[in-house]
Amino acid sequence: MILHTEERFAVLRAAQHEIRSHQGRVPDDGFYERKLAGAWDRARRSDAYRGIGEFSPARFRELPVTPRESLKERPLHYAAVPPDQAAKYYETTGTTGTPTPTPRTAEDTIWNTVSVAEAWRPLLAEGARAVVLLPSDIVPVADLVVGVCEYLDVPHIRAYPFATGISDWGRLAAVWRTFRPTVVFAAPGVALQFTRLLAQRGELAETGASVERLMLLGEVNTAPYRRRLGEWWNAEAHDASYGSTETGTLAASCREGRQHLLPAATYFELDAGDGAVPLTGAGDGRLVVTPLNAHARPLLRLDTGDEVSLGGGCPCGSAAPVVTVHGRAADGLLVKGAPLSVRAVEEVVYGVTEATGYLLEVDRAGGYARLLLERGFRADRDGEGTARERVQRSSGELLGLRWDEVVFVNSLPATTKSGASQKSWKRSNIRHLETVR
Ligand SMILES: [Zn+2]
Repeated sequence: MILHTEERFAVLRAAQHEIRSHQGRVPDDGFYERKLAGAWDRARRSDAYRGIGEFSPARFRELPVTPRESLKERPLHYAAVPPDQAAKYYETTGTTGTPTPTPRTAEDTIWNTVSVAEAWRPLLAEGARAVVLLPSDIVPVADLVVGVCEYLDVPHIRAYPFATGISDWGRLAAVWRTFRPTVVFAAPGVALQFTRLLAQRGELAETGASVERLMLLGEVNTAPYRRRLGEWWNAEAHDASYGSTETGTLAASCREGRQHLLPAATYFELDAGDGAVPLTGAGDGRLVVTPLNAHARPLLRLDTGDEVSLGGGCPCGSAAPVVTVHGRAADGLLVKGAPLSVRAVEEVVYGVTEATGYLLEVDRAGGYARLLLERGFRADRDGEGTARERVQRSSGELLGLRWDEVVFVNSLPATTKSGASQKSWKRSNIRHLETVR
């Protein structure tokens, strides 16, 4: 309950009006000038931006981009509000495992919730019931989803299956029978594990009967993975949102299953190699963002490090750019001379097999690589030889790589799918071996 004063209610009304009036379109220059001036003034309260002077559009364009690494190294240097004065306090762990303190003011929460809720509104139609299989502690992801459900009047329950002492898979099955959710919010790894468990018990069809939509968030998930998951559940699987705790939500899924940038909530620039420039339509490059409604930790021209492709022409009719996120260049991996990305690998794994998970084992020198695939629940062991051949052929075509071995196993370590939130592909799905033979 953060809406207990007239002031905060006024913030909600302002957010609602502004976000709704820009839904599905890109705001004009006047809008950005006004909003950037506000973001700039709040940013000047932090140590990181204290000396940047008065705002002008020219000064903004000349301001050096903020590298993501500086933010990660000194998160409180960028805070305009100390943790003890925030309305909410979160911490997130990124690829390095070092916690990033993340205070949030009521304004931060209200603006981000309204922005995401208005974007998801078509996906959470009347009659929707949501189950939230995301962690509620320390990290903000479940709070955001719950905030959206409250705002849209969608009945919902938090039920993270790893909340020791409260919730587990058995409890979840019981909740399911009574509540009959139509929408499932989950991290991709958790969705896989749940699917597998239900299938092994012969309960997938029955459990999935009420579910119309799976909303995946918290981790990278790829189109081939979503197709496979949607097929298993006989439901739509969406990559629900893109963003980070640092930036807030940058893009959200539309009813056509594509992600659109949220240009009324963030000012976007693209760096195609010659520095960050305002978006001009389709293009490829690194996304540079200025969140327009950040209060506790305002950021100006943050280089996300994420390589993206921008396009348009989505059948949903939105004029906001469609974004495909390729991930960070640094998250790629060189194996046997071939650059691998999570998307390319999953194109192979979920594209040509029914595996429910995978692990790459590579030696430190990058000369030996083995692919472990978790047997799907409809596994046909006689067909595994052919499946291995399909994987090798597809890997040759899509990855430019031939695996030294492709092995089917009964189950993979839990680290490949614990779905704790925002985990790193390199930590979860790749194992480095000193010697493998
Ligand atoms: Zn669309």
